[in-house]
Amino acid sequence: MANHREDHATIDLMTTGNAPYVARDLAHVWHPCTQMKDHEQNVPLIPIRRGQGVWLEDYSGRRYLDAISSWWVNLFGHAYPRIIAALREQVDKLEQVILAGFTHEPVIELSEALVAIAPEGLTRCFYADNGSAAVEVAVKMSFHYWRNVGRSAKRRFITLSNSYHGETLGALAVGNVELYKEIYQPLLMDVITVPSPDCYEREAGESWAEHSRRKFAHMEATLARHAHEVAAVIVEPLVQCAGTMRMYDPVYLELLRDACNRYEVHLIADEIAVGFGRTGTMFACEQAHIRPDFMCLSKGLTAGYLPLSAVMTTEAVYAAFYDEYEKLNAFLHSHSFTGNPLACAVARACLGIFREDNVLERNRALAAHMGARARELEEHPHVAEVRQRGMIVAIELVRDKATRAPYAWQERRGLVIYRHAIERGVLLRPVGNVVYFMPPYVITPDEIDLMVEVAREGIELATCG
Ligand code: PMP
Repeated sequence: MANHREDHATIDLMTTGNAPYVARDLAHVWHPCTQMKDHEQNVPLIPIRRGQGVWLEDYSGRRYLDAISSWWVNLFGHAYPRIIAALREQVDKLEQVILAGFTHEPVIELSEALVAIAPEGLTRCFYADNGSAAVEVAVKMSFHYWRNVGRSAKRRFITLSNSYHGETLGALAVGNVELYKEIYQPLLMDVITVPSPDCYEREAGESWAEHSRRKFAHMEATLARHAHEVAAVIVEPLVQCAGTMRMYDPVYLELLRDACNRYEVHLIADEIAVGFGRTGTMFACEQAHIRPDFMCLSKGLTAGYLPLSAVMTTEAVYAAFYDEYEKLNAFLHSHSFTGNPLACAVARACLGIFREDNVLERNRALAAHMGARARELEEHPHVAEVRQRGMIVAIELVRDKATRAPYAWQERRGLVIYRHAIERGVLLRPVGNVVYFMPPYVITPDEIDLMVEVAREGIELATCG
């Protein structure tokens, strides 16, 4: 292992064009999700000067295939002309206006378009500017709803193990990825955590549906016990993305919707990562034919061009806040950039592309190709599983295939793959011991082949010692 890392420490990305930017950056910029000392040697910092389609280009002219859609946001590639045109058109008219007391065409049209495609009954749209803020909004709205209808004992939240909902304090509290959460635990509200239906954990011979159904017993028992004090259950429908792309069967969502109805508990669907076609349908909830009480959207909402998020909810929730001013029942949450016109105009254009270009249909062939190529890696002695849901494919690496004993996180095997891929011109960013693909929908079959081939080489390198 050590040798691999040293070999790779020699990758020279500091070629002419990049070096000055890297030096200036490291003098002042503090990067997200990064141990900054890693940039001394382990991880090259790459300044990007332009993007085109699935490709990013650095200041030395090297190109990188963006296999992770720039943190799962980009849908139609970089520099997509129709989106740029929509942005240009809007910027000439209105860049920003307060959304309290004022409105504008892009936010109206976007809301109409979202209501038209969302699960039926989600008719109200509340805006924020990032995914975590959307989760905060949904959590506060659910809590506040129960208070407004006179059931203020309902103030707790149920979450799944291995879930991720963002990193502001409320969103962190309702998530469950230890790496991000543990240190801040003293600052967080107490939540009830139920075992995830994660199908990687299924018994030999058990189907995804059987496993997901069996795991639901924990949720049923928890709801039976705690419903009187619970406002909502929050889930990432079908794929726990930050939790190493673990997946489960839609039947779990069907059972959950039914139980939430029976126990009078809200269901919050965090579709921030899985929405907008990632799982094969526009929204993952559609695969279970359910309508959540709150649906959180961000990332692909603007095709990855501008920060924007939305929480969609029902008339019943909206009505509980609609009252005489003096009752002080209103939902007063606000952000300066709520419903920013530029972001809304881009989101409106993005939904237009889905409508006009038959995107979901076209993605089916791409997903089939990506899955088929990735499954060739199933035979690898250190690959425990290749799993797929629509346009998300994940490859789980293990130290011992027979026992599924994982590699210790300290070995940072994923980093070996990351570094190799960067050297080969592909941006892969394994989470723990899981390599995954979540590319923009404009990727070609040839580019998929390159992406999978580079991942295969990286896996060889990372697992050979
Ligand atoms: N929920 C889910 C499911 C996510 O994947 C993410 C981001 N990875 C978030 C919430 C938080 O979104 P943001 O990073 O925009 O705050």
